[in-house]
Amino acid sequence: MPSPESLVYFDHAATTPVHAQVLEAMLPYFSRSYANPNSIYRFAQEARKAVDDARCTIADVLNCRPNEVIFTSGGTESINAALRGAAFASMRAGVGNHIVTTQVEHHAVLHTCQMLENLGFDVSYVPVDRYGMVDPADIEGALTEKTVLISVMLANNEIGTIEPVAEIAHLLRRRDASGRRRSILFHTDAVQAAGALDLDVKRLDVDLLSLSSHKFYGPKGSGVLYIRRGTPFNAQITGGGQERNRRSGTENVPGIVGTAVALRRAEEHRAANSAYCRHLRDRLIRGVLSTIPGSHLTGHPERRLPNNASFVFDGVEGESILLGLDFQGVAASSGSACSSGSLEPSHVLLATGLTAAAASGALRFSLGPDNTEQEVDYVLSVLPDIVQQLRSMSGPRATA
Ligand SMILES: *Cc1c(COP(=O)(O)O)cnc(C)c1O
Repeated sequence: MPSPESLVYFDHAATTPVHAQVLEAMLPYFSRSYANPNSIYRFAQEARKAVDDARCTIADVLNCRPNEVIFTSGGTESINAALRGAAFASMRAGVGNHIVTTQVEHHAVLHTCQMLENLGFDVSYVPVDRYGMVDPADIEGALTEKTVLISVMLANNEIGTIEPVAEIAHLLRRRDASGRRRSILFHTDAVQAAGALDLDVKRLDVDLLSLSSHKFYGPKGSGVLYIRRGTPFNAQITGGGQERNRRSGTENVPGIVGTAVALRRAEEHRAANSAYCRHLRDRLIRGVLSTIPGSHLTGHPERRLPNNASFVFDGVEGESILLGLDFQGVAASSGSACSSGSLEPSHVLLATGLTAAAASGALRFSLGPDNTEQEVDYVLSVLPDIVQQLRSMSGPRATA
């Protein structure tokens, strides 16, 4: 096993390490300042203030009001709260029961939509083009009189494609102005976008936006949900009434503090980190495509996350390549961390039109500012042989 020091970590879309400054900011809230922020005595005021300050920091980055921000246990909970919270509130108000999403969403969205189908909602899963991008006109085409909610991710976790979220919002505005829109709510899963794309909710013009701290150098098990003021929303976790009744439970104070520091850092370093990652990414993409025959880039060639280099290789299993890379001290992924190990072909790659056989050759590298050119070159030095060896073992299929 390679030591963590020599590990080449190219799986930042799965998770990131907690940044030293983030950890430092969190530590006092595990120990010295351990009070429940809801308690009345003065000792609890430090914890209360930490939560309030964190909320203001996040509101500042998202360009919203602090009371439009709630803290959750991560991206999956934020997404569940957004979809269920908005869907149930709209259904109860008698507005409708139709939801529109895309075929390339994260399972947190897709499986929640399937659950809502079981509960009486109709869901349209809009197809995408060969780059994994949805056409705003297709979203508009899927709307019905009964549509209450749209959910489209800001950037795809497997292939890095950036979806036209602001364009879809713009289209909804136009319908609004022409009186054809009946309070259709718009949620975006922005989990992969943090640190790479603009998260200004006014510019994006969304009603709900989900984030996960551990994808931007914050702690695991902490997330954020933006809920635009006035959005119909039913709490999914009920209890003591924290988070203005929108998410009960004693606040995860260290997690909340870490989330704020991490998001502030991600925003401050966004331009520089993106430029740096883009440089490494393009070096990796060029290297792979030019040295490995039968390799293809997946996702959009330009409109993609600056840190995502995802491929399919003809005639080899992505999982086998991963094992070979792991042996050489490289951590990558065959798609999403959640579905790896299942050997099910990626629903994202199938939606881009690949066959199940082609999709099984998927490999994703996701880079971070802690990576170096030397690491990219190291991967480029071992990958062609790994692919070549696997192909020669698997026989004639390899040359197809
Ligand atoms: C990681 C991820 C999630 C889930 O976030 P967790 O905090 O791990 O629950 C949701 N959507 C996307 C696009 C992701 O990449």
